[in-house]
Amino acid sequence: MRYVEHIADLVGNTPLVRLGSVAAGISATVLAKVEYLNPGGSVKDRIAARMIEAAEASGELKPGGTIVEPTSGNTGVGLAMLAQRKGYRCVFVCPDKVGEDKRNVLKAYGAEVVVCPTAVDPDHPDSYYKTSDRLVTEIDGAWKPNQYANPENPASHYAATGPELWEQTEGRITHYVAGIGTGGTISGTGRYLKDVSGGRVKVIGADPEGSVYSGGSGRPYLVEGVGEDFWPSTYDKEICDEIIAVSDADSFEMTRRLAREEALLVGGSCGMAVVAALRVAAAVPAERAADSVVVVLLPDGGRGYLGKVFNDRWMARYGFLPPTEGATVDDVLRRKDGSIP
Ligand code: PMP
Repeated sequence: MRYVEHIADLVGNTPLVRLGSVAAGISATVLAKVEYLNPGGSVKDRIAARMIEAAEASGELKPGGTIVEPTSGNTGVGLAMLAQRKGYRCVFVCPDKVGEDKRNVLKAYGAEVVVCPTAVDPDHPDSYYKTSDRLVTEIDGAWKPNQYANPENPASHYAATGPELWEQTEGRITHYVAGIGTGGTISGTGRYLKDVSGGRVKVIGADPEGSVYSGGSGRPYLVEGVGEDFWPSTYDKEICDEIIAVSDADSFEMTRRLAREEALLVGGSCGMAVVAALRVAAAVPAERAADSVVVVLLPDGGRGYLGKVFNDRWMARYGFLPPTEGATVDDVLRRKDGSIP
């Protein structure tokens, strides 16, 4: 019989898929690492185990303890999966702009979710930051992983994501492209790839226009999970050879193309990273294209965004699509005739 003891044992070892139609006309090989195939549905499953194990080893997290983290999604799922297995309680703090569906996913895994108003100053006692700090102080046995400052976040990618990519490409990877949120993924994976290749692998960050990593001031953007308005300690400022800023419009258009043309139903930060990867691949000089292997990491799946990037009305509201009421029967029949492109 072939089985594992727990779903969390299946984290990692995600596959690489070659991009076809969206990479048409590009000679370099472009491969996507599909992280939504992790059991909790995102790259963040990878950091939960190491952060928890390190806190157990240091005594910060004791049996029966409570994990308190400000998170609205992917990291919460990864932590909740492990917490359930190990008998910890989870309390996640979310701003009220986070959709109900995402909060319900966390609750479905058994976590408690505290919702805070978005429209208050960070120093207000009800803010997302202050509330999580207060819960950590007041709950007996509480521990906060703090993914923005926890060295186990990049360390888990150095230990696993990087070696996986090196083995899967048989050492032929030449460029690694990823978005930057906490910076854990790109810093850990990128550092491993640079170490193992003697500095040959180029590391390229993808960033929403407006975020600090590509020189912005923290101006708002709609792509979720990437970009920041501050510099977290989990991001290694030396790791990127280049950072490419991508607009929301380009990110969302590519996200929709990935679903339609590659059957990859992924989140908006994936579209953003693919736009950057294709720019990198297209810029490879012709004489080096045959030997160039560009790998782009796709952090999560698209089901958490059905009301946003995959919703025509939402896209139209932000000006990314013309106003639409959806297709009529006539539209569908005419399209079949080829009369609508
Ligand atoms: N995309 C999504 C959807 C995410 O949730 C995250 C994590 N915040 C990232 C990209 C970036 O990953 P990292 O925090 O490791 O930089």
